[in-house]
Amino acid sequence: MRVPMGLTIDMAKYVMKQRLTGNKRYPLVLMLEPTELCNLTCTGCGKIRQAEEIHGKRMSVEECLAAADECGAPVVSIAGGEPLVHPQFDQIVEGMLARNKLTLLCTNGILIKRALSRLTPDPRFSFVFHLDGPREHHDLMVERKGVFDTVMNGIQEAKKLGFKVTTNTTLYKGVDPKGVGNLLSQLMDLGVDNCIVSPAFTYEEVGSALDNEIFMRRREAVETFRGVVESAGPRVRYYDTPMFFDFLLGKKEMHCTPWGNPTRDPLGWKGPCYLLTDGHYGKFSDMMENTEWEEFGYGDNPRCASCMMHSGYEASGVARLSPSDTFRIIKWMFAN
Ligand code: SF4
Repeated sequence: MRVPMGLTIDMAKYVMKQRLTGNKRYPLVLMLEPTELCNLTCTGCGKIRQAEEIHGKRMSVEECLAAADECGAPVVSIAGGEPLVHPQFDQIVEGMLARNKLTLLCTNGILIKRALSRLTPDPRFSFVFHLDGPREHHDLMVERKGVFDTVMNGIQEAKKLGFKVTTNTTLYKGVDPKGVGNLLSQLMDLGVDNCIVSPAFTYEEVGSALDNEIFMRRREAVETFRGVVESAGPRVRYYDTPMFFDFLLGKKEMHCTPWGNPTRDPLGWKGPCYLLTDGHYGKFSDMMENTEWEEFGYGDNPRCASCMMHSGYEASGVARLSPSDTFRIIKWMFAN
């Protein structure tokens, strides 16, 4: 079992409490972006192409911790930008752990040595390394040669020091599913704890010129995901919940739950979701109350047409658990 038992029970209690109190919309994972600055310029990234205004700002440690308290989600995913360029990334992680949050630090791996020298392994903490595919494909997507090797070395260093390590693979058009499957299998040999895989989101900020070149539509994404899973084989441990996994395999339809993964960035609480930016709110409760949730999701909004992102759909499975799903998710939590 990788997630401590106490934390698993706390998360189950949190979901149960929300359901018993009749709260239909509650957060599960806080997507915290203390800075949008990044030391890479990945081809498909919409975050680095946001308005200039956001790049000149970063959240203080106090603002980050206040955001966690305000929203109350049991899991915090620290992303960006590249969170390791934030000077106090270690204090942010430590503050989240002091609040007993399951804490994920997403990184492109370039500054991993800095992180390994300032953080301590903790069963409630995991690095999440961005790794989009085999060497050639990954370096192409991040637009810099040598980054794949930096990530692989960083993973091995982190494992040697006793850290939990997850990888996050975003699937773009043209990726070889077999190559990705083999890579995931190789990551198991390196001791990686689990892998997240999901199709890329069609960021408007990336521009329509690249739209058809790098982003997949739903059917293509499902076919690619199936190919990855088949090539990876049964030994790969996925961090995707079983329900989200079925959704990506095209076995289950789900409606998006954008409030499940609310985003706090240097401008405030971002609405309506991690991927779309229609505005920012000063308070979490204002974002929850003033967003017209019915206007978003597949079939309800053209901007959502190709979205199959975990930030929109992981929470959907948890929010509408059937008895058989409950059994599957308990098994999955014990395996992760
Ligand atoms: S489907 Fe949901 S998560 Fe995806 S872009 Fe639309 S609102 Fe955001």
